[in-house]
Amino acid sequence: MANERVFNFSAGPSMLPLSVLERAGAEITNYQGSGMSVMEMSHRSKVFLRIFEDTQAKLRRMMSVPEGYQILFLQTGATGQFAMVPLNLMGRTGKADYAVTGNFSGLAAKEAKKYGTVNIAATSEGKNHTYIPAQSELKLDKDASYFYYCANNTIYGTEWNYVPETGNVPLVCDMSSDILSKPVDVSKYGIIFAGAQKNMAPAGLTVVIVKEELAGGELPITPVIMNYKTMIDKGSMYNTPPCWCIYMLGLVLDWLEEQGGLAGMEQVKGKRAAMLYDVLDSSKLFTCAAEKGSRSDMNVTFRTGDDELDAKFVAAATEAGLVNLKGHRLVGGMRASIYNAMPMEGVEKLCDLIRTFDRENG
Ligand SMILES: *Cc1c(COP(=O)(O)O)cnc(C)c1O
Repeated sequence: MANERVFNFSAGPSMLPLSVLERAGAEITNYQGSGMSVMEMSHRSKVFLRIFEDTQAKLRRMMSVPEGYQILFLQTGATGQFAMVPLNLMGRTGKADYAVTGNFSGLAAKEAKKYGTVNIAATSEGKNHTYIPAQSELKLDKDASYFYYCANNTIYGTEWNYVPETGNVPLVCDMSSDILSKPVDVSKYGIIFAGAQKNMAPAGLTVVIVKEELAGGELPITPVIMNYKTMIDKGSMYNTPPCWCIYMLGLVLDWLEEQGGLAGMEQVKGKRAAMLYDVLDSSKLFTCAAEKGSRSDMNVTFRTGDDELDAKFVAAATEAGLVNLKGHRLVGGMRASIYNAMPMEGVEKLCDLIRTFDRENG
């Protein structure tokens, strides 16, 4: 077992495709004849600039990012964007709309309050974040600087299955845990951001896709490192970017291309999730917290209702090489994160285990 790779259901940092790790391994001490590792290169060297620009171009192509949008490769995680977004955009009207559908959008709203008036346009807190509010439930302010939401709630296991209509109010979206899992119409958004460690690359890189016209209106207190305009003008290199992670993202994008791009990924993800939810729904023991219609295809949360039995299941899974299935401490139970890099085989094995466990304990 010790020498075998496990199926890692961690919510993030999470699995990377094996072929990507192997390619990185093969290039780790001497990147394409440069005589050094990507980890050792100047971010301003020709070799690295090529990696940087290629990765950016690949991402632009894969997500069909239109003209007028910039792709930034930053640090400080998705959490950094909880501050960077209001610092740069709140000055438009001094207020913003937030949909709170889980932990991370809650934290983002809390952070934004430091910089302006936050209107909670919708919250699912009353039902423990088990659903996504419908468009008709959103209390929209037409003078909001922006409308903020989190596309996939990593902890609670819910996912927006529609893009909110907000008229002329720019959409800001945290896509940390479902970016690159399906095609997205970027033109509908003002800002899309994502921490890389769920579905893109190792931890340390934050991808921000920003509509250029939204940059440049930052509050005067904005730290220079958190200024979109500065980062656009400096090509994400006002300071040293997370070079290794950018390189890894490039490899992941090559792999994604081989899998049929985002359309291919969407099919696979639909299959993976349907398989898992079907088995859970037809079991005697297990229930899913998330309401049908709001269920996430990336993070599947489930439980038996008995903490001891949950622990027994997690232990049995670990024994079978299916690891990190324990749910987040805010929710309990189990959580299976099935991002792009999770092989179908991993989900099949998990389904088998659920069926067996259900039979033996139900
Ligand atoms: C993991 C996660 C975050 C936090 O990301 P960091 O990169 O750790 O700051 C924010 N939002 C969502 C949706 C996440 O899944």
